[in-house]
Parts: sequence; structure tokens; C-alpha cells
Amino acid sequence: MPGITELGYLRLGVSNLSRWKEFATEIAGLEWCDEGEPGRGYLRMDSWHHRFILEEDGGDDLNALGLRVAGVEEFAEMDRRLSAAGVRHEIGSRALAADRHVLEIMTLEDPSGNPIEIFHGPHVQYGKPFHPGRRMYGGFATGTAGMGHCLIRNNGFDATYRFYTMLGMRGSIQYRTVRPDGSTGEFLFFHCNDRQHTLGFGVGVMKRINHVMVEASSFDDLAFTYNLVKAKQIPIGIDLGRHANDHLYSFYFANPSGWLLEYGWGSRPALPQSEYYDTDVYGHEHQDAVIDQQWHVHETARKAIG
Ligand code: FE
Repeated sequence: MPGITELGYLRLGVSNLSRWKEFATEIAGLEWCDEGEPGRGYLRMDSWHHRFILEEDGGDDLNALGLRVAGVEEFAEMDRRLSAAGVRHEIGSRALAADRHVLEIMTLEDPSGNPIEIFHGPHVQYGKPFHPGRRMYGGFATGTAGMGHCLIRNNGFDATYRFYTMLGMRGSIQYRTVRPDGSTGEFLFFHCNDRQHTLGFGVGVMKRINHVMVEASSFDDLAFTYNLVKAKQIPIGIDLGRHANDHLYSFYFANPSGWLLEYGWGSRPALPQSEYYDTDVYGHEHQDAVIDQQWHVHETARKAIG
């Protein structure tokens, strides 16, 4: 079933654009792009015009997931499919598409109220190679796997599963873990390309977004970033470790909006058959002084970065 092919971009609301610029370029190595629009900045990870749109609206949360479909026909098919399923959506104007640097766009919400922009035809600038915001050994692993993954809010796995399956993604429970209080935690993940998961659900209910993951193509960049984060005393919420599902070696640290950036390396592609795990491979120790059980950054830790 043709459908979503990748997480193309994220629109994030922020309260401090200059702080985000410093964090994204000097810590994460992303490239800043300023088009002279007041209160707005772009972050690049590859040849795309942007992979993040930062909007200084005070929200410090997700403003929209940009989900890509292949082209004109797939966009029209998605419009028909959403109409047949009774999902409210709006075809965006030419001006809205131009604002997002895409050819066509439609806007909708998932069953949990997460804003989504389905688009095709991103603006790709091969004449403007990616230039990292600080020294890097390599770049970011994007390509056909999209910009990365994110964990977002959900109000129930059944409705979430039906919705994203309708968009053409494949999903399953991949973790069933026992929490310290004896209760069971479950995580639901979806993929739509080689990336093992593009969307995840299971923690974080205070904001629409819990974390976004970007993947470095070189192990040295993961280690280099870890050293930088330590040196700048940025609060680490989940320490270095390897996930059981995507085999990503990663750690999570607080960003200026008070949620988490996951920085990773070395993921494996999606498996053709479902599996679930009760624990990670190793590491990923939760830092209770920085995050709670739902991976929310504590106010004291947020103040240290924001
Ligand atoms: Fe993650």
C-alpha cells in the first residue's frame, strides 16, 4: 500500500531561538540557515533546504511532523484514502506549500492531536552541500531513511495503530518492560522505509513530542558529541547504550525546549517480522535526577540548558 515514505522534516515551536541556534549548531553539529524571516530559523542535516523549521512562538513543543509521500499520484491517493476514512484534512494552498519548501501539502491531526503535514516534493539543494555547524568527522545518516525518528504523545495504542497503518506504515509493540513500581510499560513503533522506526509511542504525555533522534554516520561523531555534552554540562537524561529494536548506540540529552535530543550511531534496518524485547542490549541508564519515568526533563535540569 503506497503511503508515507519518510519523516521529512519537523516544525518545532521554541521560546528562545538564539539559544536553539547555539545548541543545534555548536553541540549537535546541525547547519543553521537564516532566510531573513523574523522569529524563524532552519536547520539542515543534508542537501534538503531544511530538516527542522524552528518557530519562536514560545511553545517549546512539536508544531508539526512533515511526513513525505512519493509524488503527485501518491498525494492524490492519500487525499482519497483520508476522505474515505472520514479523517478531517485540508489541502494546503500554494502559499503554504511554498512556505514549507514543498510542492504540495495537506494538514491534519492524528487521533492524539499531533499536527501532521503530508507533503511531496521537498526543496533539495545539491548546490549547497551540508556544512555542519561545528567540526564533524562525517555527516548525518538520512538518505532514504528520512531525518530520524521521534517519540510523540498518544492517547491509546488502538486508535494510533489504526491511523498510522492507514497512512501506509507498519507497526508493532517492540518493548514490554517492567517498571520499578511493578507495572508494565509498552512501546509501539512504526516504520515506513529502511529506518527501523520512524515514529514511536509509549512515554511522554506532557508535551506532544518526547524526543527526536538524529543519527551520525560516523561513530566518532557520537563519541565527540558525548564529550561536548559532558564538557558543557548539558543534562543527560539517558546515558550511552544500545537499543534492542534498532540496535542504535545512543544517548539522550536535554535541549533548550526542555525535552530530549537522542544522538545515535550504527542502527540496523527494519526487520520483515515483528519481535519484542524486555530490555535494551546494554547501557541506556536512566538518570533520575534529569528525567522522570515518562522521560520528562525535570524543571531543574531544563533550567540548566534553557
Ligand atoms: Fe529514540
